[in-house]
Amino acid sequence: MRAAIFEKFKAPLEVRQVPEPACPADGVIVRVKACGVCRSDWHAWTGADSDVSAPHVPGHEFAGVVEDVGKECRRFKAGDRVTAPFILACGACPDCLGGDATVCNHQFVVGFSGWGAFAERIAVPRADFNLVPLPDAMDFADAAGMGCRVTTAFRALVDRARLQPGEWLAVHGCGGVGLSAVMIGAAIGAQVLAIDVNEEALHLAKSLGAGASINARAAGDVGQATRDITGGGAHVSVDALGITETFHNSIRGLRKLGRHVQIGMPLGRHAEPSVPLLELVYSRQISIMGTRGIPASRFPALFQVIAAGRIAPSRLVTHRISLDEAGTAIEAMNGYTGSGITVIDRF
Ligand SMILES: [Zn+2]
Ligand SMILES: [Zn+2]
Repeated sequence: MRAAIFEKFKAPLEVRQVPEPACPADGVIVRVKACGVCRSDWHAWTGADSDVSAPHVPGHEFAGVVEDVGKECRRFKAGDRVTAPFILACGACPDCLGGDATVCNHQFVVGFSGWGAFAERIAVPRADFNLVPLPDAMDFADAAGMGCRVTTAFRALVDRARLQPGEWLAVHGCGGVGLSAVMIGAAIGAQVLAIDVNEEALHLAKSLGAGASINARAAGDVGQATRDITGGGAHVSVDALGITETFHNSIRGLRKLGRHVQIGMPLGRHAEPSVPLLELVYSRQISIMGTRGIPASRFPALFQVIAAGRIAPSRLVTHRISLDEAGTAIEAMNGYTGSGITVIDRF
């Protein structure tokens, strides 16, 4: 089958023939119809992610059609339209059985622990637990564009922060996942404040439901500016970028008892930022929580929000490209790539 592969970190992706994936007994083979291109793929390509070894095929945001079914798989058949979270879990441990599959100790991360979906086909193990049926009304490219960004933002705000109508939500960083958070926050009925250094991203955030914005480059003290606009601080604040500066801006912009959710993956020198424990965590009693991915079991709730017309993830998909253009799209992430989501929809 055809796949976009890199032989060494930071070497150009090359589309060539690679061996077909084997169908797991408890899994399926999915013919990939669409796959999102994400900054996490860029991290994998640069060698920043220790789970990834070269040669490697990236791609973790896929949707497609079941082509082959292992003999132990019960819930799916050839022809089913499906997607899956990027964290594939074991489905049998206490975390999985308790609904917390994203912290499963036996997880397999598509496009990181193994080869991903920048390819014509991909194997999905433990399909009965991990695979998600796609609603008929949902386009493959829209479904691929949703994961991991819309799904991650949904879990961060709904399941982790438990954002309430009328609360202030501050979103630091308006790339794909940040814009998803803006859209979901507005759908919940929160008052959304978007923060970025780029005016184009802020403009898009406003069109997706942000009622206020801060240009972090112009604002000086972003924490203070956030507290001023929100009348004392945001109830919920997310760092959708994963760098020390946005993390600090986020926790400093919270009101007393506010909840910070870390969405962006803090890599390298951003992995261990300082935390004002006395001033913020002890005295102002803020909470700092993490989020990563979404369990397959939460997709139906998200699909219902989309079916009800409360959010339109398709608005985030701004570029559709072919597999041959995947390498160019990844290399473009060396710089600022603008807002919106790129999806491969031709293989
Ligand atoms: Zn598990
Ligand atoms: Zn992603």
